[in-house]
Amino acid sequence: MSELQQMDPEIADLITKEEARQHRTMRLIPSENYAWPAVMEACGSVLNNKYSEGYTGKRYYEGQEFIDGVESLAVSRVKQLFGVDHANVQPYSGSPANLAVYFAFCKPGDTVMGMGLPSGGHLTHGWKVSISGSYFNAVQYGVRESDHRIDFDQVASLAREHKPKLLFCGATAYPREIEFARFAEIAREVGAILVADIAHISGLIAGGAHQSPVGLAEVISSTTHKTLRGPRGGMILCDEKHQKAIDKSVFPGLQGGPHNGTTAGIAVAAKLAMTPEFKQYAANVVSNAKVLAARLEERGFALITGGTDNHLVLMDLTPKGVPGKVAAQALDRAGIVTNYNSIPFDPRKPFDPSGVRIGTPAITARGMGAAEMQQLGDWMADVVDNVTDEAKIAGIAAEVKALCDKFPAPGVPVS
Ligand SMILES: *Cc1c(COP(=O)(O)O)cnc(C)c1O
Repeated sequence: MSELQQMDPEIADLITKEEARQHRTMRLIPSENYAWPAVMEACGSVLNNKYSEGYTGKRYYEGQEFIDGVESLAVSRVKQLFGVDHANVQPYSGSPANLAVYFAFCKPGDTVMGMGLPSGGHLTHGWKVSISGSYFNAVQYGVRESDHRIDFDQVASLAREHKPKLLFCGATAYPREIEFARFAEIAREVGAILVADIAHISGLIAGGAHQSPVGLAEVISSTTHKTLRGPRGGMILCDEKHQKAIDKSVFPGLQGGPHNGTTAGIAVAAKLAMTPEFKQYAANVVSNAKVLAARLEERGFALITGGTDNHLVLMDLTPKGVPGKVAAQALDRAGIVTNYNSIPFDPRKPFDPSGVRIGTPAITARGMGAAEMQQLGDWMADVVDNVTDEAKIAGIAAEVKALCDKFPAPGVPVS
């Protein structure tokens, strides 16, 4: 028995059950992944026990000779991976990274601009329930009603009218390339700092499967646990001229001690993301998403923007006559884990929307490819076309489990 099983059998049991769930299901939530086992090992180490407020060489506590080594490696590898002047790897996650960006450049009440949540933007890009939409004068752009692509005419006219200090681009539910150059041109014209939030796509960018905002956005924020396959964490990359402002904003502006285990995990992930295998992984994530999208369309699903350029597919379930939540819950019973999601201009409420959002990062990390994507598309259609047929759904769950047995998930023990 492990220490945890002896000391806290309730938590040990829940972790074992979660391991089994992560093994036997096809996890299609596009923000989720399987972190590398080496990353998990670094995170669950004695680095957890150390306080190290400050930065390498400038700490407020003694005993930093090894922690400095860890953070220096994380910073230098992330800089090399993305080709940036400066990296701060201390933000606790993606949302605190964005909050640090606001704090570096804005005072409460300042005007900022980002994509609205209903168009696929993130809460932290100025949505009204978030601190970003409450403490700042947040102007929101969106997608066109005709094709659900980012409306650059609207971005430009709102930017000219409101002159934001920060212009955020990057999304959480947008299946197409983010055209950083077009945002950069608008930001330059109105004197805004362009912030590219690459939380979802940082692994695709690192692996060369999505264009990079480096050289176009002065500031880049990201999570480290989505397509990048690192620990749950955040980072901010920037041009040299913003280094001081960003570092000061993260610490002492917003946070106390960095999570050193996470920093080590980021260092490991950045190293692994520089390998040819990761390049292949990033390419496979996108090709799998395209194959899955095509099969879903053949089986009668309506895809927002008609397809995907990245790891993510957003579906409108209206033609199927099934609300997004009912579909997502039936799929979950079949071992296919998705999330219900609003679609642009959704006539339904956020808690009961028309859409389902899916993505391929986690199933691609298991080594699944085109054949499995075709099969998955068929299973999804069979479930959604028979949402009340529990026998059929149970049968599909068994088939999903059998497929998952053939593709072990990285870092997930099978008990
Ligand atoms: C996931 C996400 C975040 C927030 O990350 P957390 O780690 O959940 O705080 C920020 N921005 C975008 C675009 C995201 O997709």
